[in-house]
Amino acid sequence: MRADVAGALAAAAWFGPAAAPVVPAVAAAFRVPRRLPGPGVAITFDDGPHPQGTPAVLEILADANARATFFLVGEQVERAPALAAEIASAGHEVGVHGYRHTLLLRRSPRALHEDFARACDVIAAATGTAPRVYRPPYGVFSGPALLLVRRLGWRPLLWSRWGKDWVARTTPPAIAARATRDLGRGDVVLLHDADHYSSVDSWRRTAAALPDILAAASATGEPLVSVSQSR
Ligand SMILES: [Zn+2]
Repeated sequence: MRADVAGALAAAAWFGPAAAPVVPAVAAAFRVPRRLPGPGVAITFDDGPHPQGTPAVLEILADANARATFFLVGEQVERAPALAAEIASAGHEVGVHGYRHTLLLRRSPRALHEDFARACDVIAAATGTAPRVYRPPYGVFSGPALLLVRRLGWRPLLWSRWGKDWVARTTPPAIAARATRDLGRGDVVLLHDADHYSSVDSWRRTAAALPDILAAASATGEPLVSVSQSR
């Protein structure tokens, strides 16, 4: 069963975010959380930092006095360490999204360890904070990767809502509607503040959708929390 899921993923996942529709099945097979264990709604951003997308998102979050979690990519943090520092100093949580943004499935345990350790070092050096949460590129785990994440003491987390903001043919209203459908206690919303690994300028649509997403989250009556605030 697990091998079947992994096999299907291996075939599908090379097309990048197109693999995402099978993520819930894989999350269940590996028992990776998709929701918060307690109250609250978590807004999360993957793939940054980005020289334009991250500041745009940070400004909107600040205007709404909202806290979020950013799953950073080590190679992007190296290109923009000051932006990573800005995320943390604004009170947001920083998590690990890998050093390189590639699938984990065909990487050896040793290569995984090197990638994770390098990402952790780069993020900690830039932000002054040791990350404690992890989300894999494309939401796709491998067995060895999940073991390693847990051995490092990180919390693995996927998501329960998404805006599909990485695709080229979408609009801010469509992103906001998808991200907030039936939004409620424990939901984790996946967004992207960067277009490094998705369609060009996708962060602009995400930023345009964000005020409506934050308003919908606020309307649930649940607090907006970072991932580690919910236990
Ligand atoms: Zn990603």
